[in-house]
Amino acid sequence: MSYLDRINAYQEEMLATLQELIAIPSVETEPGHAGEPFGPDLARALEYVLAWGEKNGFAAKNHAGYAGHLEYGTGEETVGVLVHLDVVPAGEGWKYPPFSGQRAEERIYGRGAIDDKGPAVAAMYALKALKEEGIKLGKKIRLIFGCDEESGWQCMDYYFKHEPKPEYGFTPDAVFPLINCEKGQLGLVIEGEWQELQSGCRIESLSGGTRRNVVPEWAEAVLTFPDQQSLQAFKASIPETKVNEVQLSTGQAEHQLRIRVKGVSAHASLPQDGDNAITKLVEIISGIKGTGGFWPAVRFIQECFGRETDGRGLEINCHDQISGDLTINLGVLKTEQRKVMMEVDIRYPLCTSGEELEEKIEAKLAAYHLKINACSALPPHYLDANNWLIRTLLRVYQEETGEQATPLAIGGRTYAVTLGNAVAFGPVFPGRPELAHQKDEYISVQDLMACTRIFARALYELAKAGAERG
Ligand SMILES: [Zn+2]
Repeated sequence: MSYLDRINAYQEEMLATLQELIAIPSVETEPGHAGEPFGPDLARALEYVLAWGEKNGFAAKNHAGYAGHLEYGTGEETVGVLVHLDVVPAGEGWKYPPFSGQRAEERIYGRGAIDDKGPAVAAMYALKALKEEGIKLGKKIRLIFGCDEESGWQCMDYYFKHEPKPEYGFTPDAVFPLINCEKGQLGLVIEGEWQELQSGCRIESLSGGTRRNVVPEWAEAVLTFPDQQSLQAFKASIPETKVNEVQLSTGQAEHQLRIRVKGVSAHASLPQDGDNAITKLVEIISGIKGTGGFWPAVRFIQECFGRETDGRGLEINCHDQISGDLTINLGVLKTEQRKVMMEVDIRYPLCTSGEELEEKIEAKLAAYHLKINACSALPPHYLDANNWLIRTLLRVYQEETGEQATPLAIGGRTYAVTLGNAVAFGPVFPGRPELAHQKDEYISVQDLMACTRIFARALYELAKAGAERG
């Protein structure tokens, strides 16, 4: 019997294990007793998988409830697989209770089924298959369980304070085939003051969006026009195609208008999938005559963002073969008394850097009486496609699925970053719906078993005696 045949024989046991793990509602809460930094349910989920490991003959270690691992094999180097046991809250409207692990339609339903308890169970049984088959390895394998991937990644900060990073690794917390490029991220807070010598229409307030990393769904402006005639002229200028998205109401003072604009929300790493309500609002009011006050900030948005999402207006648009286009999202706009504030999220390709972008943007801002007030930067996470780890994982994926596989680049961040020399590998196969964080989250039995075979084979190829060293 080979380790791959063994996996098929585990199927019913695996489904039962996954159901039991889903039944622990491991949503992060306030800390409990010692060893429960993310609440008692997460501590219970971690104890559950570690007890499973001990029962199956693996060395188990619990790092104060932050994270833990199961270990198999010996060797100087370590191959790490990182999964997480925390889940986001269930939300409403499920067809099966979210913490039941209901089996239906050849799927296991429940919060965490695909993100990330299903992949955790797949990795556990991949390891079990290698062990029971008595496969000799040249490296250690560590299956690492994190407990707060969905909130702050404190679990990995704590864990890697006490444990060395594995030399190679993968984390099944995204998609197949694998992600070898996660773009760089730059977050900016841009601020300005109310400008004296205000004339024409007066902007009383501006607001829109809630978070930098979300395409804003709404935006609002309160404007006072100098007279009824200019107010009416503005109303008449709104194209009929926009009437469904623009809500007008009278303000408190004379000739005052409140304009509320609806957009479509999306993640900031895919701004082209949304419809930014802030830039749409600015487009609608940009024809109004007005200077000073908050108008410079509006002119900045009009001229340097427009309706583009690739940074063209700021002259920072760029592209490379590996990572694709730069993307930009104006996520928040706010005025408070005499201050205006904007929050901007940029995902940049390998061909530029956070410093270069910041410099270019700074140079644009002066003309609008604006400046960068705070900045956060995360460099890209990138592993060359010729890297042995990448080549091995792609080959395993191709051999198991029969599909051609090329590495992917994304604007988001995956858990792989915390492992170092590691990439996101699975669990969602191409063409499957995106179910993470949704109601009716599930993993199909077929995909769970396919993941297990792919992980077992990947671990074997990476850790077998005589496998290439970095
Ligand atoms: Zn996840």
